[in-house]
Amino acid sequence: MAGILFIISAPSGSGKSTLVSETRRLVGGLDFSISYTTRQPRGSEQDGVEYHFTTRAEFERMIAAKEFLEWAEVFGNYYGTALSALDHARENGTDLLLDIDVQGALQVMKTMPKAVSIFILPPSPEVLERRLRNRSQAEGVAEESVIERRLSQARTELLKLDDYRYALVNDVLDQAASEMRAIVLVARGAGDSADVALAAECLTSQHSGRLDAALGTFGL
Ligand code: ADP
Ligand code: 5GP
Repeated sequence: MAGILFIISAPSGSGKSTLVSETRRLVGGLDFSISYTTRQPRGSEQDGVEYHFTTRAEFERMIAAKEFLEWAEVFGNYYGTALSALDHARENGTDLLLDIDVQGALQVMKTMPKAVSIFILPPSPEVLERRLRNRSQAEGVAEESVIERRLSQARTELLKLDDYRYALVNDVLDQAASEMRAIVLVARGAGDSADVALAAECLTSQHSGRLDAALGTFGL
């Protein structure tokens, strides 16, 4: 893979998809890997846009054929990154963004140690719950059990945050997007001194006050 691989993980509902779209608007040359999943499309999601929606049988065929860079079972469904996404990015000469869960991220960190890993946190469990509820209302689905499951999973995922190189708190969207932009530019060696300083504040090794405040609200 010629370009840089960015691994992004976040508890579901943290605003990762929103933040990824905003970052791609701010910086060019960032391809997004469209994952395969066996879950049903949500709201206005379309096959081949947000995900490649597929069956368990087809997903298991792809696992056996070694077509995945990584895959995991999340909330009872399979999710995976096809190796072909890396080929496409290489052909297009772009960097590649993977939006994957913690289990998948840990696999990729092992096989591709140069990948730049970024963990996105919601500012608090209350805000996370509100975002999850707003999203399900907007999509016309209000499955209480799904929301409860995602909330309890969030805390477990946060325990893995220190395995990531960067962590940022998605409180005010513009600020979090500026931080993501700075991280991308610095990884490319194209950041100015303000970008370098902004990215450095997001290093997990720094454990900024903002990061610790968010973790504290989760009792961590
Ligand atoms: P994820 O991809 O992490 O599951 P989404 O991007 O779907 O999360 O965001 C979940 C909900 O939170 C959406 O309704 C989105 O509009 C909202 N949201 C995302 N980021 C912010 C933010 N910084 N401030 C307020 N609302 C946000
Ligand atoms: P959602 O169903 O909300 O779109 O995603 C649920 C979780 O699956 C999120 O944590 C998301 O990052 C993760 N996910 C999406 N695609 C992949 C993938 O290709 N591999 C892995 N391991 N996780 C994924």
